[in-house]
Amino acid sequence: MTNKEKITKIRELAKEKNAVILAHNYQLPEIYDIADFIGDSLELSRKAANTNADVIVFCGVHFMAETAAILSPSKTVLLPDLEAGCSLADSITADQLKMWKSEHPDAVVVMYVNTSADVKALADYCCTSSNAINIVESIPADKEILFGPDMFLGAYVSKRTNRKMHIWPGECHVHAQFRNDHLVNLQKKHPNAELILHPECGCISQCLYMMSDGQLSNAKILSTSGMIAEVKSSESDEFIIGTEIGIIERMKREEPNKKYIPLKEDAICKYMKKINLDNVLLALQNMQHEISIPEDIRKQALLSIERMITIK
Ligand code: SF4
Repeated sequence: MTNKEKITKIRELAKEKNAVILAHNYQLPEIYDIADFIGDSLELSRKAANTNADVIVFCGVHFMAETAAILSPSKTVLLPDLEAGCSLADSITADQLKMWKSEHPDAVVVMYVNTSADVKALADYCCTSSNAINIVESIPADKEILFGPDMFLGAYVSKRTNRKMHIWPGECHVHAQFRNDHLVNLQKKHPNAELILHPECGCISQCLYMMSDGQLSNAKILSTSGMIAEVKSSESDEFIIGTEIGIIERMKREEPNKKYIPLKEDAICKYMKKINLDNVLLALQNMQHEISIPEDIRKQALLSIERMITIK
């Protein structure tokens, strides 16, 4: 079957099964071609919760499909490849968090959205990079805080809020590769380029930390949608893109006449790239692989996600 035929078949099946296909910004171009919505994980989960679809095919990674399942318990959530994980989410398990909590029984637990449902269920708050500072600032000053799993985001938030926190030593294998010299060298090479850095998906937290140290100039921290909006509205015609390079495809589609320079050309998430037309087709044909969360875990995890959504 050609890609064109697969795409036609997938769209037919999606219609027949009343399925919505969600694609994270880091997905392959052919997955963009079959998607009903493209965006970041939270944006997509909210979209899914508000559709009348019976089935959600999540073209992203496991914790994202879980978040969709937490927010949409009456829908069937499918992840086309169970190997689509996340190194950041894997850096802390529920057992590890339980142990950490037992060492700090009075602490408030703030966990990044890139975590498993089991970990979210043990947290007081989930956060994104955009609202992590506000969440930490909302916690009474005399409370201990356990923050995880991204150590760079934790260090940045601690610095910005002037708050001592216990920080879990986790990282994303893609974004941990970004280093100061990449940024400095690229800025020298492209002095007129606007530097845009992505605050979500474990993304760019290391760069955020460098910015707080004054090591970077002419940089903006934007969510995925913010990055897309920025390249469309900015007067700049050249951008250095500080995140997984998959998003550049979307930028080229939405604003083709501008130039996009990846901060690091090999910033590729191997987990995101597990999803392809073949496994999406199989997912719809066989209704596989269903992501379901035990109800007690779902309810607990929902609380921490709802707190995250409430604090902007
Ligand atoms: S880019 Fe990093 S944080 Fe995002 S899904 Fe991949 S491994 Fe996880």
